[in-house]
Amino acid sequence: MSEDFHRQILMDHFNNPQNKVDACPDGYEVQKGINPSCGDELEIYVKYNGNKIEDIKFNGQGCSICCSSASILTNEINGLDKEEVINKLENFEHLIKGEGYNEDLFEDAVAFDGVKNFPARFKCAFLSWQTIKDFFKRK
Ligand code: ZN
Repeated sequence: MSEDFHRQILMDHFNNPQNKVDACPDGYEVQKGINPSCGDELEIYVKYNGNKIEDIKFNGQGCSICCSSASILTNEINGLDKEEVINKLENFEHLIKGEGYNEDLFEDAVAFDGVKNFPARFKCAFLSWQTIKDFFKRK
């Protein structure tokens, strides 16, 4: 896929974020994430049942990379259990660092492979994923 196509995917998620809400819905747990180096701030809302993410939403503000990443994250991990999410997190980290990863795991998230050329934006792309990682540290 071309770089332009990847940029288009990210802009689509930035302009029309998916699973974005104004406040934490009833029955969801909150996990906050901040990236002071850019000013990105997120809240991830998780409906967690048993070992599984039954639903996930987010709210927040930040740069286009951070916001599109949060939108994509919610699509990518909705319905997965803890082990599947941890595996996907590790692979996404490899993806944005330009290391080997399992492409079959991802849909729109592959659009972030260009971040490997911009290490300063790594934290922007990873903030939502770091936030869900922090969520699972409590589980
Ligand atoms: Zn940012």
